Amino acid sequence: METTLRGVGVSHGVAIGEVRHMGTAVLEPPARKIAGEDTEREQARARQAVEAVAADLMARGNLAGGEAQAVLEAQALMAQDPELMSDVERRIAEGTTAERSVYDAFAAYRELLANAGEYLAGRVADLDDVRNRIVARLLGVPMPGVPDSDEPFVLVARDLAPADTALLDPALVLGFVTEEGGPTSHTAILARALGVPAVVALARAVELTEGAEVAVDGSTGEIFVDPSARTKEQLRAAEAERAAVLAASTGPGATADGHKVPLLANIGGPADVAAALEAGAEGVGLFRTEFLFLDDSTSAPSEDKQVEAYRAVLEEFPEGRVVVRVLDAGADKPLDFLTPAAEPNPALGVRGVRSLLDHPEVLRTQLTALARAAEGLPVYLEVMAPMVADRTEARAFADACREVGLPAKVGVMVEIPSAALRARSVLQEVEFLSLGTNDLAQYTFAADRQVGAVSRLQDPWQPALLDLVALSAEAAKAEGKSCGVCGEAASDPLLACVLTGLGVTSLSMGAASIPYVRAKLGRYTLAQCERAASAARAADTAEGAREAAAAALAGN
Ligand code: PEP
Ligand code: MG
Repeated sequence: METTLRGVGVSHGVAIGEVRHMGTAVLEPPARKIAGEDTEREQARARQAVEAVAADLMARGNLAGGEAQAVLEAQALMAQDPELMSDVERRIAEGTTAERSVYDAFAAYRELLANAGEYLAGRVADLDDVRNRIVARLLGVPMPGVPDSDEPFVLVARDLAPADTALLDPALVLGFVTEEGGPTSHTAILARALGVPAVVALARAVELTEGAEVAVDGSTGEIFVDPSARTKEQLRAAEAERAAVLAASTGPGATADGHKVPLLANIGGPADVAAALEAGAEGVGLFRTEFLFLDDSTSAPSEDKQVEAYRAVLEEFPEGRVVVRVLDAGADKPLDFLTPAAEPNPALGVRGVRSLLDHPEVLRTQLTALARAAEGLPVYLEVMAPMVADRTEARAFADACREVGLPAKVGVMVEIPSAALRARSVLQEVEFLSLGTNDLAQYTFAADRQVGAVSRLQDPWQPALLDLVALSAEAAKAEGKSCGVCGEAASDPLLACVLTGLGVTSLSMGAASIPYVRAKLGRYTLAQCERAASAARAADTAEGAREAAAAALAGN
């Protein structure tokens, strides 16, 4: 009998296949004692296992490239944390085996993280994954991870570690379903980058029967267990229709009546440029520069190294627009040389532009590198600061850009409600706004974007979030300036129409979403989008807003 479950659809498409669970069993090694003379050998074994796992994560990162690389490299650094290693060595010296010492040392560290506040939920999953890999290596058992199978399958997991999502083979993994994670978690972002249909935050996903047939609709978030022939046929037909529409979707983004809305790509580095060009991106709307800094959390990369990386991207978009976001460190992306060590609540601490204003030399080097990278290129460079709260921060950032003579438009991201509420004041200092709806939702609803349990509040259809988008877009219009969206909200085709109706002037998203958004937007006039936007804002819930917008576009 067919049953229907509902999670949060985070990556478009339909996947029909058998359930295979991720091998995430926690390998608890027995608490065996070792003899004193074995201490050094065990310590060496532990060090070798750590190095091998770190090297493997780095190699996976190299293979994957892009945003995945940054995440995997951060995990490799986690594995090599010197304090963790000295704790492991101390435990071995007290007579515990290497595998048990690793297990216990990570458990202690995990506890520390878990008690440091909910924001660390995402990091805990990464930490567990690193621990499982090291323990598996020491025990000589297969690595936890994607199951071996010759047949394509639907991968089900509590949470997918970045190390696994990065190397998912789209030919073998039809789609994936997780119990944790929200629409803006790293896993969701990576799934979209891979173009694999995905549903997250599905309650009790791990209880799905191994081998059962499921149909996953990554657009609606529905999972059909033991789907009937009719359901499968309907889903396939809808998918084929969508594919046909996509194939026909080319050219710049615009509504049916020709109102232009440039469709731009979010990239994490030069490795993502090819997919952006292939999807017909009209430029880059968000270049997350963190990838360059996560290599080494103890110091910033040299100016020359930065010039090289930025130029590699800028050269690919001759006469196109490239919006570079300066380093966004802190909270879930801490860097030792920037982020204060013991903040009680790092998501509300020194992060984003706050870190840069506290370390003007880091900002100056990055801006100088960008100016050098753009030299002699016809590209339209735009530079923006993350997590700007008010006009004072906007001015400080604009001053820093002026000081190095940066030949670029200067803007700020609206990720904090205060910036949306006072957008006109912020716009006295800068030339454009870019709405980071992932963080804007997080701070509007006080709901950590990494925590599956609060994903309802992370839904970008929440009318309160739409109100803040409208405020920002109206302010930009009044000031004769632009206001784009570069958060994940832009990648939802229906929501993209609503954002357009709210007055947003460009949409930036993972490359894989561009054809879907282009096709949907091209079906409606600006007036229809405006009606859909008003209908959505009149609703009281995210679900209500989504339904009202769909009904308005359908002419009801
Ligand atoms: C956002 O917060 O919406 C955003 C685009 O930035 P990031 O996802 O990198 O925090
Ligand atoms: Mg953000």
